Amino acid sequence: MIRRPLAAAALALCGVGAVACGGAEVSDSKAAASGTAPRLGRPAATQDGAAGTAPSETAVPTTRTAAASETEALPLAGKVVVIDPGHNGGNFRHTKEINQLVGISNQKKACDTTGTSTNDGYTEAAFTWDVSNRLAKLLKAEGATVKLTRTRSTEWGPCINQRAAVGNKAKADAAISVHGDGAAANLRGFHIIMPKKIGGPVDPVVKDSARLGANVRDAFHSGTGLPYSNYIGKQALNYRSDLGGLNLSTVPKIFIECGNMRNAKDAARFKDSAFRAKMARSLAKGLENYLTSAR
Ligand SMILES: [Zn+2]
Repeated sequence: MIRRPLAAAALALCGVGAVACGGAEVSDSKAAASGTAPRLGRPAATQDGAAGTAPSETAVPTTRTAAASETEALPLAGKVVVIDPGHNGGNFRHTKEINQLVGISNQKKACDTTGTSTNDGYTEAAFTWDVSNRLAKLLKAEGATVKLTRTRSTEWGPCINQRAAVGNKAKADAAISVHGDGAAANLRGFHIIMPKKIGGPVDPVVKDSARLGANVRDAFHSGTGLPYSNYIGKQALNYRSDLGGLNLSTVPKIFIECGNMRNAKDAARFKDSAFRAKMARSLAKGLENYLTSAR
């Protein structure tokens, strides 16, 4: 979840203890999500041809060439995606560190927040870590180069400005920050957060971020069946100028709040690993649609 400046009520609800969401972005992970990585609906080029001894060798001049052409055939070959798993499992124990202020272009904000959890303790940090790694695996299978903004889920940070810097440094074609919200128990549904023009770093990519947001919204809605948020945004689309992870991004970027972890129906989905796999597939589909469609 992400701390909203507006309603005090929302703030109070936003998390376990002090602060909850707030997005931050940073580095690479090879952590694997469980399960195999089903492709996103389109068969990739054969993976097993390159090694070839036998008949296929007559068709291609060298194994090197064969391997190269296979890579190029994958739909996301040449694309760079940065995935930001919101918060970190150790943030709860590092209040001082995560409360340090960092500049986000139009204001200063806390380095990071703890994130929320379901009522029975499944944390947002664990959720974002799980889904982000599943998503990374799927995108890599499609040929993308993928970086995560944190490499573990037991430490604190990184700060939101650093998380944004990872996408910028990678010159990502798309970046996504994964979160779960922590609103009142009677509210539910998912929403996408996109940047606004702020007279700052994100301005040149606001338009592409909106297109990315619409693609991910559509794919997540149809792929998971989760409803649009009934408490934020219009048809699950929301725009903000107070998130460091967006304000400082120079590459197209969005946040997704995958649902309300304090709502019983949404929470049941968050805690279901098969459903988390479905979330990841839906996010991958949305990213692929964005990355492979014309502007
Ligand atoms: Zn969050």
